[in-house]
Amino acid sequence: MNFSNINRSNFIHAACAEEFDLLVIGGGITGCGIALDAALRGMKVLLLEKKDFASGTSSRSTKLIHGGLRYLKQMEFKLVHDVGTERAIVHKLARHVVIPEKMLLPIYEEGTLGPFTTSLALLVYDILAGVKLGERRKMLNVSETLKQEPLLSNSKLLGGGLYFEYRTDDSRLVIELAKSAFAAGALLLNYAEVISFLQDEDGKVRGARVKNSVSDESFEVRAKVVVNASGPWVDVLRKEDQSLHGKRLQLTKGVHIVFPFEKFPIKQAAYFDVGDGRMIFAIPRDGITYVGTTDTVYNESIDSPVCSSADVDYLLKAVNSIFTSLQLKDSDIVSSWAGLRPLIQEDGKSPGELSRKDEIFISKSGLISIAGGKLTGYRLMSEKIVDLAEKRLNRRFGKCSTVSHYLSGGDFFNEENFKEALNHMKQLAAGVIPEHVVEEWFYRYGKNTNVIIKQTLVLKDKYPAIEQACSIAELTYALEHEMIYSPADYFVRRTGKVFFNREKSMAQLEQVNSFIADYLSQANNVSEKLLKEVKNEYNTALDFR
Ligand code: FAD
Repeated sequence: MNFSNINRSNFIHAACAEEFDLLVIGGGITGCGIALDAALRGMKVLLLEKKDFASGTSSRSTKLIHGGLRYLKQMEFKLVHDVGTERAIVHKLARHVVIPEKMLLPIYEEGTLGPFTTSLALLVYDILAGVKLGERRKMLNVSETLKQEPLLSNSKLLGGGLYFEYRTDDSRLVIELAKSAFAAGALLLNYAEVISFLQDEDGKVRGARVKNSVSDESFEVRAKVVVNASGPWVDVLRKEDQSLHGKRLQLTKGVHIVFPFEKFPIKQAAYFDVGDGRMIFAIPRDGITYVGTTDTVYNESIDSPVCSSADVDYLLKAVNSIFTSLQLKDSDIVSSWAGLRPLIQEDGKSPGELSRKDEIFISKSGLISIAGGKLTGYRLMSEKIVDLAEKRLNRRFGKCSTVSHYLSGGDFFNEENFKEALNHMKQLAAGVIPEHVVEEWFYRYGKNTNVIIKQTLVLKDKYPAIEQACSIAELTYALEHEMIYSPADYFVRRTGKVFFNREKSMAQLEQVNSFIADYLSQANNVSEKLLKEVKNEYNTALDFR
């Protein structure tokens, strides 16, 4: 059966029909990572996500698989080592969505670090993080720094340091994990919200009551072990479980703003001082440049963080102070996103000082909750949780094998093989589909691009314009293999078009909405509601209050 919402009633039937070894609540990177690890070990796994996969923090990050440079400042040396090692592994597992990217650290007179300390920090980082030879640090003098990025202000510039970060598309990484978990035998359902827990007479959690947000009906599922991987919502579920004691989450908000590349035409991604002890990124990508992030204490609605005008002012001031020739304004912004970090509260610490390490809480009822962490460390977090679950199940399952299990679309043995696969796709599409479209698909779907190309070749005679055949083939893939239910799933989380291709994609909203409605046989009132929701997503991305 395909990973498609057309099979929704079968999936719900299967979810209710048996007791699972493991129920995972939350379809972000943490939950999907756990589902994959557990399914590969042979556990019977059910994952429930209240909205869409990656609709929480995991689609709202800086979209980097960090090597953990910032942890050096907090003297968290082991973390730098672990994160650096993990970065190399995640790249190997999904080369199409985890791509090395040179990052420039410009050094200014009044900055936090001087040339010597930057060089030393990057050297320590190279060693601790096990950075491979071709990606080790390079220190630049003033003229080399300006050559690398001519838009930087040269006033008080002392030089720069080049190092590597890995760029990702966070929500694509999550969906590739979800597809891999499904292929490994896990059952994953979006638009299924856990509203309360089922407990036995000893008070042990044995399952959950679930709201099917598509039909507004509810159903019950049973599991021997229940994991709460709901990110910023972790304490909401701990409260439901009556186990919200001791350590709690401290949510902090981080926003990113997006400029058209013509307005902010940087050649080179940069990570620079803001002046208040923080640093932010400016990253060019797919015809836009995005800038972020902020880090402010957040106590408002968890469901709808937005970018405020104060956030915009902060980021604009930071960019304009270093890219002085640009003088960017809020009217230049074409999109934005805001996310919440589920950090662990520590008295007397500012948001930036709170540890990014993950934390596990085990309640009297047996509920296992996990919060904190980074995209980068998802695999290690998953391993810890599944080890715990295995102990609780008191049964031997297979060993953790995620270190060598390629994610969906990512089975390239090495860089050479990756390039060969891309060329192969281009040949398949030659003379029909423009090369730039094949490339765009390849960096989104990896080897699964194959399926979309074949579908386009079938559709090309039906649709006079090849662009239309391409669009329909891509949308069909999302419907048949990526569990989309709404146009927002498609435009925000499967393709990122709301951020990276706003104008063009806005013109397609109605058409895509009715195609989805036809495919999933949605009633008129449902598809009207979903159309409103996606339009709202587009508006919110530019509504700074
Ligand atoms: P989430 O992604 O929030 O997933 C939790 C899911 O649980 C949500 O989808 C939610 O809908 C679901 N859920 C909640 N309640 C229920 C319920 N009752 N029933 C069912 N489902 C439920 N990390 C990096 O490695 N690199 C970066 O560049 C980076 N940048 C960041 C920038 C910002 C601004 C922020 C905020 C974070 C950044 N991070 C980064 C951290 C990283 O994004 C997070 O650690 C990670 O995404 C958290 O994933 P998660 O799965 O734990 O939470």
